[in-house]
Amino acid sequence: MTFFESHLSCKGKRNIIFSLTKTKDDNMSMNMIFFGPPGSGKGTYSDRICPGFGIPHISTGDIFRHAIAEKTELGKKVESLLKTGKLVDDKTVMNIIKERLKKPDCKKGFVFDGFPRTLEQAKELEKIAKIDLVINLNLADEILIEKALARRICEKCGNVYNIADIKRNGISMPPLLPKKTGICDKCSGKLIQRKDDNEQTLKDRLDVYREQTMPLIEYYKKRGMIKNVDVVAGPEIMVPKILAVIKKELKA
Ligand code: ADP
Ligand code: ZN
Repeated sequence: MTFFESHLSCKGKRNIIFSLTKTKDDNMSMNMIFFGPPGSGKGTYSDRICPGFGIPHISTGDIFRHAIAEKTELGKKVESLLKTGKLVDDKTVMNIIKERLKKPDCKKGFVFDGFPRTLEQAKELEKIAKIDLVINLNLADEILIEKALARRICEKCGNVYNIADIKRNGISMPPLLPKKTGICDKCSGKLIQRKDDNEQTLKDRLDVYREQTMPLIEYYKKRGMIKNVDVVAGPEIMVPKILAVIKKELKA
């Protein structure tokens, strides 16, 4: 058993983080995409996995929500699109990504969550960064909707919680509850529901995902970059599973 594996089997985030930083070559970078439909857990997994690599979690959705909350020009431009589940135009998205990648914290790598979302974005991304791995999270639509409707986010820091307790068809996802009902563990902010996490908008977002984003699976498959992960449990089980996939890739 390697150092990494012995720590992987331990419970608790700290051990996993430590083991990853130990095995990773300082000169190596890991540029990853966490891919999957709305509600598949891209944000939660990115949040838990990135610290171990010392790399940022870059969520275009979070960037837009922040801009909306701050009432910036960008926020005003995208607010109605997010509300209805439509995509922001590729040019705007690419400008944000180009600026974000210039920041020094991206040197060792990054995880994109919610980007790229169209073929055009993937092609543009290829011109500015080399992607090492795409983790494709799979989950049945019916579960996605149930999970997304039960999602709660902190209005201050965006940390994600979930009140659904799903146990059926071989899937076991316990709720991700805050210590105090309605209050964020990290910053004591108020927990709210995202405006686009309602049944109608979710169905629209799933349609948009199928039409515009799913073709990217084929795109990355052809390039041998994609690894599929079935989401069947909560983060306690899924995070080590995803880490094992990444670890295999790091060795390859
Ligand atoms: P989810 O994956 O749960 O649908 P996100 O937080 O990734 O949510 O995105 C929320 C919304 O932000 C999307 O419905 C879309 O309006 C916009 N958005 C986020 N990322 C992109 C992107 N890469 N391209 C276009 N629009 C985006
Ligand atoms: Zn918070």
